[in-house]
Amino acid sequence: MSVDASISCQEVVELLSAYLDGELDPFTLERVEAHLAGCDGCTMVLEEFRETIRLSGGLTVEQVDETQRRTLLEAFRNWRAGS
Ligand SMILES: [Zn+2]
Repeated sequence: MSVDASISCQEVVELLSAYLDGELDPFTLERVEAHLAGCDGCTMVLEEFRETIRLSGGLTVEQVDETQRRTLLEAFRNWRAGS
């Protein structure tokens, strides 16, 4: 990645649930947002996450975390693979 941030895509995706819940500390939040600003892949995953939560209605980020995060991670890996 050419993103000037000391956080990897993997880390960002892992942090998205906490990010959407507003649970990140200011330092981590800044790094995640900086990464998202320069990474289309992670932005896509974030949008997918938001859409999943929206469509699920009452589900919280924590409830979708277990199943959907794996699915999103797979989709993200496939996207990164340039398929
Ligand atoms: Zn990324």
